[in-house]
Amino acid sequence: MQTLESGRRSTRVEALKRDIESHVRYTLARDNASATERDVYMATAWTLRDRLADRWAATNARYEHRDVKRVYYLSLEFLIGRALGNALINLGLDGATAEALEELGYNLEELMDREPDAGLGNGGLGRLAACYLDSMATLELPGMGYGIRYEHGIFRQALDDQGRQVEKPDNWLMDGNPWEIARPDRTYKVKFWGRVQAHHDEEGRVHFDWVDTSDVLAMAYDTPVPGYCNNTVNTLRLWAAKATEEFDLEGFIRGNYIAAVEAKTQTETISKVLYPPDDTGAGKELRLKQQYFFVSATLQDIIARYLTERKTFDDFPDKVQIQLNDTHPAVAIPELMRLLMDDHGLEWDESFDLARRTFAYTNHTVLPEALEQWGTDLFGRLLPRQMEIVREIDKRFRARVLEKFPGDAAREERMAIVSGNRLRMANLAIVGSHTTNGVAALHTEILKDSIFKDFHELWPDRFTSVTNGITQRRWMLKANPRLSSLITEAIGDEWVTQLERLRELEPLADDAAFRERWMQIKAGNRARLAGIVTDLTGTPVDPASMMDVQIKRMHEYKRQLMNVLRCVDSFLMLRDTPDLDVPARAVLFGGKAAPTYWTAKLIIQLTNAVGRLVNAEPKASRLLRVAFLPDYRVSLAEKIFPGSDLSEQISTAGYEASGTGNMKFALNGALTIGTLDGANVEIAENVGDENIFIFGLKADEVEARKAAGYNPRAEYEASPRLRRVLDFILSGVLSPENPGLYRPLVEGLLFSDPYMVLADFDAYVEAQEQVDFAWGDQQDWTRKAILNVARSGFFSSDRSVKEYATRIWHL
Ligand SMILES: *Cc1c(COP(=O)(O)O)cnc(C)c1O
Repeated sequence: MQTLESGRRSTRVEALKRDIESHVRYTLARDNASATERDVYMATAWTLRDRLADRWAATNARYEHRDVKRVYYLSLEFLIGRALGNALINLGLDGATAEALEELGYNLEELMDREPDAGLGNGGLGRLAACYLDSMATLELPGMGYGIRYEHGIFRQALDDQGRQVEKPDNWLMDGNPWEIARPDRTYKVKFWGRVQAHHDEEGRVHFDWVDTSDVLAMAYDTPVPGYCNNTVNTLRLWAAKATEEFDLEGFIRGNYIAAVEAKTQTETISKVLYPPDDTGAGKELRLKQQYFFVSATLQDIIARYLTERKTFDDFPDKVQIQLNDTHPAVAIPELMRLLMDDHGLEWDESFDLARRTFAYTNHTVLPEALEQWGTDLFGRLLPRQMEIVREIDKRFRARVLEKFPGDAAREERMAIVSGNRLRMANLAIVGSHTTNGVAALHTEILKDSIFKDFHELWPDRFTSVTNGITQRRWMLKANPRLSSLITEAIGDEWVTQLERLRELEPLADDAAFRERWMQIKAGNRARLAGIVTDLTGTPVDPASMMDVQIKRMHEYKRQLMNVLRCVDSFLMLRDTPDLDVPARAVLFGGKAAPTYWTAKLIIQLTNAVGRLVNAEPKASRLLRVAFLPDYRVSLAEKIFPGSDLSEQISTAGYEASGTGNMKFALNGALTIGTLDGANVEIAENVGDENIFIFGLKADEVEARKAAGYNPRAEYEASPRLRRVLDFILSGVLSPENPGLYRPLVEGLLFSDPYMVLADFDAYVEAQEQVDFAWGDQQDWTRKAILNVARSGFFSSDRSVKEYATRIWHL
């Protein structure tokens, strides 16, 4: 007998089949026989998007009807990854769609793998924005993301035969993007260059006109952001640059067709490509253009929406809250003031007050080289009116500082927004917003005590902390279906929207039968990961080995080099000590280096060289494998976390603002080896000291060592093990054809070591020995893993977004 539920399901499956076939036939004009896998992927995506469309329109109508206060999340990066699997899960249609495709002769997993990642971001900052969009939709908050529709996202990373990173352009839109909807009716003009002209009206008031500008059009593309099983669909609106008609027309009139087309192409480069972080800190004109381009279009759009309901700006901050994801969109502060004053006739005081009450700023870094600054010359030429406004904000702010701290000129200069010919975007963001937040407890303390100490003394109430989070829908439910099922079977499925419910797993850590099932699932996930490593790198990996994983952007402060040094140490031990009693490990690396970041790229090459050596040496490779997985990105990350056993979070304490990869690992039941940095501090507090491997200098100790005159050479002299490793690399055996290749890395450590690798090396090796020992007791290891998962509830982005909503946006 067919139950009601299975009846509904088969109706759903039939409807999905019908719609997929219909899209193949009518949207793609193909017959079923000639449809390729890519066609069926596209048809499936459209079928799902159709099911989001009604909910999307209804969500918008509801927000409008209720005249809600809205939150706008402005970010130059959204590292979204793939959309199909996410839509399936959030619509609750994963099973039915798999069945429908099966009946049509296709495999859902394989189709999902055809989708290119939307890689519109570099790393943690962009991924955070994506997790927050998911949480806002799931919490039914009226939140909208605004950014740039880069034609080329983060580059694809390949490795050449020397193990070097090679960058390839990411052509993610080449085959068409079935998820976005172009909105040509939402197109705004964005001005650049030109000059400011003052004129007086009949009443003698001064007005400023920005004239002789070069103009670009910003056209909206909307992507649906579905909440989890709740009928809410929010919007991510991304801007594409289009040449204005006037541009072409002028060219035609002058008879210069080629130049006109060239000018059009030039204009459209604004949204061509995502900037990888540029460690030279060079002020790049195109980057500033990108920032202003998306900010100006966004503010025009927000104001237009606001004014459909209202005539005055009195309620603006009560209806509009704008979160600045880092300082990249901070030009929004003078731009909003310009729009209010020059286009809508408001006075300075009112405009500044409205802007300040509208914006909030999230700081993501304390690295001085990463604090954004622009030359006033470039800024003033590209955005002359905004520069005037910034100078006036600066002038008034300096007066405020001196009023509070009379005669303290040094303080005034430290806090200035414009200092010499530099425009400091972080200072602008703090002065022009109501709240500045750090992204983990330790990070916020460092903001208050060091880099923004002066600001904290002036405005203590403006600072707050919101620890980052991750969405469990993507990073557990979607990425780790088997563990998700076991958890749901044990405690129900409320954890999907209330991650703190995972606490209910705690007693099961002591249940031997439950642990057994947990270990079986982990073994399956581990075997899958081992297969992926072999597919991607050619390195065979024993699926029973401990999967020891460091995946994140390549940066010296994240200290991938320290991990590589330990791999060399381990290699030497295994090679030279017969019958060494250590468990088998696969040490896996993944991460992109900025194309101009020479040292980070050399570390990738070194990692591959160590991998080649280790994996080819019979005595070592029995128990140790080292592999670098190319092209680390969201879709690959989803495959790695579930199979991981050990999470490497070993940054120099005080340098990693929060980290979110650390949270994904803990949620998937990997144990952390890490320093007390960023959110690791809070992970340790939550999971308990006995369930994590903490080592190394703490943030204040790092500072104290530096102040006392850190001498890395002394570390080398004092540690025989470290000496052996560095001497081995210096010997040149890792690159016989070019023996000095890695010498700069070693010399960098011996002569400067700004990230204190040598100071922490012995402690790291010792902590890894504790890991080996703990791994020996698989029952207890599993107990710890279960407790890590049970105590990860705090790290849901739902919790983070709720904190923003209550403490910052006052929704
Ligand atoms: C989570 C994530 C990051 C951030 O990792 P961290 O270890 O916090 O630096 C970067 N890239 C991708 C693809 C991610 O999923």
